[in-house]
Amino acid sequence: MPDSSLAGRHVPADLPTRIQHYIDGAFVDSADGGTFDVLDPVSNETYLQAAAGKKADIDLAVASARRAFTDGPWPRMLPRERSRVLHRIADIVESRDARLAELESFDSGLPITQALGQARRAAENFRFFADLIVAQADDAYQVPGRQLNYVNRKPIGVAGLITPWNTPFMLESWKLGPALATGSTVVLKPAEFTPLSASLWAGIFEEAGLPRGVFNLVNGLGEDAGDALVKHPGVPLISFTGESATGGLIFANAAPFLKGLSMELGGKSPAIVFADADLDAAIDATIFGVFSLNGERCTAGSRILVQRSVYDDFVERYAAQASRVVVGYPHDPATEVGALVHPEHYAKVMSYVELGKTEGRLVAGGGRPEGFETGNFVAPTVFVDVPPDARIFQEEIFGPVVAITPFDTDDEALALANNTKYGLAAYVWTSDLKRAHNFAHAVEAGMVWLNSNNVRDLRTPFGGVKASGLGHEGGYRSIDFYTDQQAVHITLGEAHHPTFGKKGTL
Ligand code: NAD
Repeated sequence: MPDSSLAGRHVPADLPTRIQHYIDGAFVDSADGGTFDVLDPVSNETYLQAAAGKKADIDLAVASARRAFTDGPWPRMLPRERSRVLHRIADIVESRDARLAELESFDSGLPITQALGQARRAAENFRFFADLIVAQADDAYQVPGRQLNYVNRKPIGVAGLITPWNTPFMLESWKLGPALATGSTVVLKPAEFTPLSASLWAGIFEEAGLPRGVFNLVNGLGEDAGDALVKHPGVPLISFTGESATGGLIFANAAPFLKGLSMELGGKSPAIVFADADLDAAIDATIFGVFSLNGERCTAGSRILVQRSVYDDFVERYAAQASRVVVGYPHDPATEVGALVHPEHYAKVMSYVELGKTEGRLVAGGGRPEGFETGNFVAPTVFVDVPPDARIFQEEIFGPVVAITPFDTDDEALALANNTKYGLAAYVWTSDLKRAHNFAHAVEAGMVWLNSNNVRDLRTPFGGVKASGLGHEGGYRSIDFYTDQQAVHITLGEAHHPTFGKKGTL
């Protein structure tokens, strides 16, 4: 039974009480000395003061990254030399996975076992790009004896990386890995709700031998530090992960500079369960798909569409299993759903839970779980018979809340699946392979999993369509995004020798 007095709450040893920016190889305060409060999601008490960066701090960080790019060794190193540094980074992350997970779990409220998985995935991201950069082969196109054309792939310069608070360390690695692998230098602006794990990169990178100035970190609010990074003329590229509305704002603010943009945005992804599906597997996967990572997962399958002939059976079993999902303190290895990241986000999720009671039929959860009087705990919540125009069917809740709706035909399932402004992911459950592939091709989603959990091969593109994103990162697409691909042409023969002005007479 959880301890409502919070006596069972776990506070990591040597927990920092303040964090600074990291600029030009040194930890520094904000130029104006400003800080902001960081809360832990179990007590909602301030446990940390973080430096609140503004334009002046971003200017210093970009100047440092620019110097490291123009004068430093990093962009000039052989790919295999950079690759070695990236592998060392992965080694260090792996060797500290337990500590990283402990801090991440404390700061974000993620269950410890899932935070551990995310820390290991961060190491994998670095390993993947360490290997990819040495395998990178660009084409040379030759017209024998006449012309040689080749692609000169150049690092982009100073990459601006802006990240959200869900799985912060892992999502940062997803951008840092390819940006550093290609020889760019970076300024990272992590989410203000969860700045703790980002500050650990600095020590890891120093130890791995990343040259000074290549990695710069500025903490702060989106409208201050984030905005200044987006509007800095010395930053040619912004990789952003966050809400669709923020993405739109960044898109507009970056437009006058014609910056390269990658936008990984929100979602309201459908999971479609046909009557011929393996229902046991579909239930296990769709429970995991919306309740893992506290439901704070961009690709959460938060709308489940179930064919009518198996609907009642599905709903009954789903609600029973959802009710058994273990809510607990984030540090407890038995916990499956921890605490939501912040009281503001908790209030938003709870307002959807209350709204859902008027829009659908509540069959599991529906509020704060018993025994948790404080902290941002939400019982896994299931609404059924939800009409497609309901707000809980349309809007991203980003918590452990799911809407389930019946359908009759394949066409109706497709129409319901596409009836959203988002298009990040879709999950299809059927034993008919033809139907699965046809559905995958017709559904408006950047990523589709067929009879499959949310398991991603790092070689594949990641990204959404519609309001869920712009562009794709992942695999070679990340290498493309963080590089300029300059075409170089050299004439070998006479075939293209121009003769303008040589044939005419005066
Ligand atoms: P958010 O948009 O509020 O913030 C994301 C980051 O942007 C933060 O670092 C924030 O400080 C910064 N920011 C805010 N306003 C800014 C501005 N005007 N200029 C520059 N930067 C600004 O998102 P969040 O609440 O931190 O994250 C949750 C959202 O992220 C959800 O919508 C989720 O679906 C989405 N997400 C998407 C993916 C994906 O890959 N598609 C992955 C994870 C999360």
